[in-house]
Amino acid sequence: MATIEKNPDDKNTCKNAEALKLTNDPVKCGFSGIEKAILACKKCPLHETVTNKVIGKGSTAPKVLFVGEAPGKTEDEKGIPFCGRAGKELDKMLEYMALSAEDWAVINTLKCRPPGNRNPTKPELESCKPFLLAQIELLDPKVIILLGNTAERAFCPGRKLEWGIPENFDGRIVLKLYHPAALIYTRLREEVQKEMIDQNRGLWE
Ligand code: SF4
Repeated sequence: MATIEKNPDDKNTCKNAEALKLTNDPVKCGFSGIEKAILACKKCPLHETVTNKVIGKGSTAPKVLFVGEAPGKTEDEKGIPFCGRAGKELDKMLEYMALSAEDWAVINTLKCRPPGNRNPTKPELESCKPFLLAQIELLDPKVIILLGNTAERAFCPGRKLEWGIPENFDGRIVLKLYHPAALIYTRLREEVQKEMIDQNRGLWE
């Protein structure tokens, strides 16, 4: 199971998922508390078919936080986000963005794989959203990059962001770019993605 490494300063952690439920404040529970709560979660039916829940990877103090969609087959098997073909595309993006290991982290809107890689449903996104918000709060990135429309639907339901145009949400800069998987199937988008990155480099450099 790959997780975002625990911050050595993450002292204020809950002892277990039950404690997390009782406090009703995941942020107070720190990275380890959130991880325990995710692993114990049965809030939507996806827990019945999941092999490994996928929590996140990368820095615990990222400048840029990528928010993907949901684990795919390889991610579900390994418990690591973006470890399949989409992961290779994300690696290319990281290189193009000139981000080093301590500069970024990646999480998904859902922690469990929807069977057959179908799109997440609205109730599933709503059920998992407290984890998404808690991870954002703890990771406290300078910029949130929503990778595609599902990440947008989860983060700001009902809102439509322009591709590549940053917006301010409660003091956080949010930018919507293409999901790396979308670049695999439509190579033309790769050039557009690079243009959007070039136009926004000032957000993280
Ligand atoms: S997808 Fe999220 S809400 Fe649903 S069971 Fe998994 S962790 Fe819980």
